[in-house]
Amino acid sequence: MNSAEVAIVGAGPVGALAALGLAQRGHDVVVFEAEPSIVRSPRAMVYYWHVLDGLDRLGVLGDMDAAGLRNTSFQQRVLSTGLRADIPLDPVAAISPYAYNVHLGQHEVVEIALQHLARYPNARILNGATVTAVRNDADHAVLDVDGPEGLETWTTRWVLGADGARSAVRHSLGLSFDGTTWPQRFVATNIQYPFDVVGGLAKANMIFDPEHGAVIAQINDTGLWRWTWSESAELPEDSVLDRLPGRLAALGFGDVPFDVDSFTPYRMHQRMVDTMRTGRVLLLGDAAHATNPTGGFGLTSGIYDLLALIEPLSAALRGTADESLLDHWAETRLSLFREFASPMASRIKGLVYDTSDTAALEGMVRAAGDFSDPAATLNRLTGMTVLRSDLPRHHEALA
Ligand SMILES: Cc1cc2nc3c(=O)[nH]c(=O)nc-3n(C[C@H](O)[C@H](O)[C@H](O)COP(=O)(O)OP(=O)(O)OC[C@H]3O[C@@H](n4cnc5c(N)ncnc54)[C@H](O)[C@@H]3O)c2cc1C
Repeated sequence: MNSAEVAIVGAGPVGALAALGLAQRGHDVVVFEAEPSIVRSPRAMVYYWHVLDGLDRLGVLGDMDAAGLRNTSFQQRVLSTGLRADIPLDPVAAISPYAYNVHLGQHEVVEIALQHLARYPNARILNGATVTAVRNDADHAVLDVDGPEGLETWTTRWVLGADGARSAVRHSLGLSFDGTTWPQRFVATNIQYPFDVVGGLAKANMIFDPEHGAVIAQINDTGLWRWTWSESAELPEDSVLDRLPGRLAALGFGDVPFDVDSFTPYRMHQRMVDTMRTGRVLLLGDAAHATNPTGGFGLTSGIYDLLALIEPLSAALRGTADESLLDHWAETRLSLFREFASPMASRIKGLVYDTSDTAALEGMVRAAGDFSDPAATLNRLTGMTVLRSDLPRHHEALA
């Protein structure tokens, strides 16, 4: 029978980074990834300043910084009136050495994490290995894996289900994934277009408009940008590309040549499990909770899930902490998603893509651009850090 201390299902960003953190602590980990290689379609690409210390602790920030783009400001704009605010991240320097965001396609983060993971002899990565079922036994978990060697059974002390929103691990446990699916379709578009030159955009931007709302961010120095827009899901998906030039023109930046590098149309959800721990199986990232991507709450939540998990799981494996710490982890992470991440992401989606109350939008943009009160400015910039649970409380419990 094949065995490992911890099985990680899914080598997306959450699974790959979680595996790295556990391997660094000397644990014997195996990662099962269904795909033969890293999935490269456009998905998350902004890593906020407040996750960078955690990524630095994992040792991957240097490589991310080298491969990605540093960004120290962002812009909010009301499309119909042109009112805009450029918001620098400088004030964050008062509380963090990381006063910048990193822009980088999530597939490159996975690539970096797996390169680091490959340095650990106690880590194994199996590509083309689909986990089809997971079950709890008295003091271990059992996984059925359909891999290159055929059907295999593995036993492990713990399983991390990081296999994304359609999680087979979650299905196998019979857990619900309750919530809603938004009526719109999102289109994540990687495009060569000089948004900064012709549109006066910053490296990261939210453009508020009930018809043509968009989130636009520069991916790298080659002129590649991510432009995420939305449309009715009732429009045919196979003609998204035909509508794209009209959508771009509607932003009003001029008739400038562009080149679509890649695009992914997708539906958006606000959904979550009832529990992130079932016996020896822990769910994290999109497998546990899914949100619309406006504001970047999806991957940010997943990164915080794994950063908060590594220490308590490692301590439980070493026998230096009670496994009930993992219940605390599961409850904390889920409540932060329910109480903050999901409602904040829904609110921001409404502002960017749905709201026609121009006066309210203008008031909000003016407030965002008012730096007269340094405490209030810092407060606005640090709002999202409420999602962190990594960790004083876990660390105190382990001390
Ligand atoms: C088009 C698109 C755009 C997005 N844009 C943003 C954004 O701008 N900002 C943001 O914060 N979030 C965004 N998101 C969400 C973000 O991509 C996710 O939050 C993030 O990918 C979650 O990471 P994860 O590792 O939990 O899951 P995933 O990235 O989905 O990784 C899961 C991995 O598990 C593997 N897998 C699945 N099933 C199995 C199985 N049975 N056995 C073994 N392996 C399996 C998959 O192949 C995959 O590699 C976007 C999502 C999409 C789809």
